[in-house]
Amino acid sequence: MIKHELLSYGYAIHVEKTETQERCPHCGFATSSVHDRRTRKVRDLAIFHQPVYLFVKVKRYRCWNCSQVFSASLESIPPNQHYTNRFCEYLYELCEGSTIQEVSRKHRIPYTTLERIYYSIASKKAKER
Ligand SMILES: [Zn+2]
Repeated sequence: MIKHELLSYGYAIHVEKTETQERCPHCGFATSSVHDRRTRKVRDLAIFHQPVYLFVKVKRYRCWNCSQVFSASLESIPPNQHYTNRFCEYLYELCEGSTIQEVSRKHRIPYTTLERIYYSIASKKAKER
């Protein structure tokens, strides 16, 4: 964790992955050549009823072997997702005890987004059974 601050809409926590080397998803070559850095904003579990947003600084690497540019992977946040995995699990539990509509309104998550999260976890859980 780098720093945290209180915003008008919640709690902001700035984090950065400390690894300086990443494996290329295209060819498997390990590289430490940083291309640039991007900041991803993702929502995480609330602290003291305050919504929490993680500002994750993600390094993008250029592979030495195949020259592709790729982002460092994050264990708890899949690419293109604006919520951490544990936050999605939490939303799923809430929907189980309520309705998607109710949870969407209470937690200010767009209905279609929440619906997608809910059904993706529900189908994952169905496979585990
Ligand atoms: Zn590569």
